[in-house]
Amino acid sequence: MVELKTEESIDAMREAGRVVARALDAVRGAAGVGVSLLDLDGVAHEVLRGAGADSPFLGYRPRFAPVPFPAVVCASVNDAIVHGIPGAYRLRDGDLVSIDCGALLNGWAGDAAVSFTVGRPRPADLRLIEAAERALAAGIAAARPGNRIGDIAHAIGAVGRAAGYGIPDGFGGHGIGRRMHEDPGVPNEGPPGRGMKLRPGMVLAIEPMLIAGGTDDYTADADGWTLRTVDGSRAAHAEHTVAITADGPRILTAL
Ligand code: MG
Ligand code: MG
Repeated sequence: MVELKTEESIDAMREAGRVVARALDAVRGAAGVGVSLLDLDGVAHEVLRGAGADSPFLGYRPRFAPVPFPAVVCASVNDAIVHGIPGAYRLRDGDLVSIDCGALLNGWAGDAAVSFTVGRPRPADLRLIEAAERALAAGIAAARPGNRIGDIAHAIGAVGRAAGYGIPDGFGGHGIGRRMHEDPGVPNEGPPGRGMKLRPGMVLAIEPMLIAGGTDDYTADADGWTLRTVDGSRAAHAEHTVAITADGPRILTAL
């Protein structure tokens, strides 16, 4: 079931989204060669705590997971696509990092992700990240009343495929509201004009994931969480929480 949010609810979700944006900004600012992923998790946790927000990630345990997620961010480095558990790994020169973060504030959730490089970037990584951001922007632009879920999926997939990148099958965005994951699912590829009609009051987390090697294959680490490319190529992830309004898409997780 899809819950339509009132304008007041969307304003409240904007506040949760602002906390996510601030946490991601702080993590990005703290990231550097030699900094551990655990340190970055601590930076995000501090922002959440300071805002009086809880983490929808910490302790989250979907059906596929062998253990509850132990952190407030997912930190996915290089060939990790999403859901990386932040551990003792220290960032190295040229790493590509994707950070996904959520917040729960006054009963409402926000969810967003950014990808960036550390130290001297590889030009191919910058192209990959730029394409993920462009795919996200295209998906957001399609998130307007009268369009359908498939129009968002198609917009994302078209950008990724045109750039020659792979798109992990079966992972994508989702409705979001009082809980982080709500209906409907938002695929990252698919035919336009299909699926649920978009209406004002729907709030969606839109989140393209792109694989540099061009294959769609992924595998899960022994930790049961981290998804990794099979070809060893790098991956990038970008995400915003977006409200569909009569005036068009409203990004709730921008700074
Ligand atoms: Mg996320
Ligand atoms: Mg999400």
